[in-house]
Amino acid sequence: MKLPFIHKTPIIFITFGLILISTAILSFVSYYYTVGRENLVETSLEQSNIKLATHYIDRIEKEIVDNDLILSGMVDVDEPEKWPEMVDAIKKADLNVDQVYFLSADSDYPLYPPYSYDIRNQWGAFRASFRVKELDLDQRELNQPHHLHMERANKYFFATYVLKETRKGRRILVCYQMNVDRIIALADGLLRDLQDRFYVSIVDFENNGVYGQPISRSSKYYQEKIFPSTLYKWILQMVPRNYTELEQGVRNQRRTNLFLIILSMFLTLISLGIIYIGWRHERQLRQLKENFIGNVSHELKTPLSLIRMFSEMLVMGRVKDEDKRLEYYRNIHNESDRMSRLIANLLDFANLIRGIEHKHFEKTNIAQLAAKALEAYRQEILKDGFELNVEADPQLPDSYADPNAITMAFLNLLDNSRKYSKERKKIDVKICRDNGFVVLAVTDQGAGIPESEQQKIFDKFFRGSDPFVRKVRGSGIGLSITKHVAEMHGGEVLVQSELGKGSTFTLKIPIPNFESRISNLESNTP
Ligand code: ADP
Repeated sequence: MKLPFIHKTPIIFITFGLILISTAILSFVSYYYTVGRENLVETSLEQSNIKLATHYIDRIEKEIVDNDLILSGMVDVDEPEKWPEMVDAIKKADLNVDQVYFLSADSDYPLYPPYSYDIRNQWGAFRASFRVKELDLDQRELNQPHHLHMERANKYFFATYVLKETRKGRRILVCYQMNVDRIIALADGLLRDLQDRFYVSIVDFENNGVYGQPISRSSKYYQEKIFPSTLYKWILQMVPRNYTELEQGVRNQRRTNLFLIILSMFLTLISLGIIYIGWRHERQLRQLKENFIGNVSHELKTPLSLIRMFSEMLVMGRVKDEDKRLEYYRNIHNESDRMSRLIANLLDFANLIRGIEHKHFEKTNIAQLAAKALEAYRQEILKDGFELNVEADPQLPDSYADPNAITMAFLNLLDNSRKYSKERKKIDVKICRDNGFVVLAVTDQGAGIPESEQQKIFDKFFRGSDPFVRKVRGSGIGLSITKHVAEMHGGEVLVQSELGKGSTFTLKIPIPNFESRISNLESNTP
């Protein structure tokens, strides 16, 4: 089955799109997953802290209530004559009680201790907090401990009271005024083990510290809980001792996760970019190769047709004139020469592509070599109407080089100057010495090369984009071979060109310091 759009759009773009979308989805999901997981960890930590706070509140309240039950059991309202004795026993026992009052449920004065001048102040203070009429005693169950907890001018008042009934049915309220410091000490004993891991404090509703210093509520690991039934004006506060590290840890974890997600997205994008560049390069190369095959076929076909045409005329004896015959022979020679050069170039190029090098280095005088190549080439150039100027330094030293390769590289440059010249048919060749190099410079007054192409021309298969260049026969491998030849001799090839004015190609081959250079090059020679 063919999807309607797939065969029209390059598959690579569809793949890229899919990879991008799936990476984005994956990043999105993993970010939300990690954030969700962190929240879950935080919530479960929070819940375990709530449980812990509830557990310790329950422990303190249970201790107080157990204490209340003992207190309640130590009093008998039917035996008023024994109340002093009972109160003494309670005060002496370690039950956190400061004073015990027996009250009639409907009177403002105590039944015990009897009101007197001596207890006037103490009674007054007690009554300021403990107002019987405000207790709603009708709603209270008999013999059940109840609590009154208040804050009075920076002092706390805490009392347990139990409503009892005598056998005769009289309701008596027994009130135990507790010692607040001892209640705090009791809480301290029970909270001790919690303090190993937590900062713990008890505060009132105005956030005044009752036990320990008030704790800041800003941390998300902070927990607080009210005492529900005994010390109900107080709040238990707690926060893990390592809460700053916990918060920092979560922050770091989140940052790391985010960083990793962004990094993986970034790497995916980079990989896609690299794949894309590779793909584009591959496509360009394929295109260049296709052009190359077309160009080479054309380059071979043209001289072959000419050779055939001239040879046919000669074979059939149609050319009577001796000069004409000579011209035809020369044409055949020139065209076959051009073909041989092209084939030599192709073979060399094939070796270059396969990484095989047939170097035949020997002591070579490049100036003489160039002069010889020019000799053969001159006729052809002059015939095409070119002016050729050669300026050669006669004193040039020998080099250690592969003569065939150097000749081929030099002829490639000469051939290009001829091919890419328009109406100004002038070629200057300079053979000289420059800073330890033998220099072969070929200058033409031809089409020139745009700046943007001046480096690309040395790439294999590359041909200039100018329509004039496109019309000229060529395969796009000459300069890449020349560059390779220069490099294999430890030299280089440079171009200087101005569009519309001409170009100079300079082939530089190093002059060896003979002893070391020769042994160096010999060790590289297969
Ligand atoms: P070919 O000449 O077969 O195209 P080359 O590798 O020799 O292949 O040259 C590559 C390209 O460099 C040419 O297509 C042309 O655009 C440019 N070029 C080379 N020499 C010259 C020159 N002397 N003047 C202008 N352009 C040149």
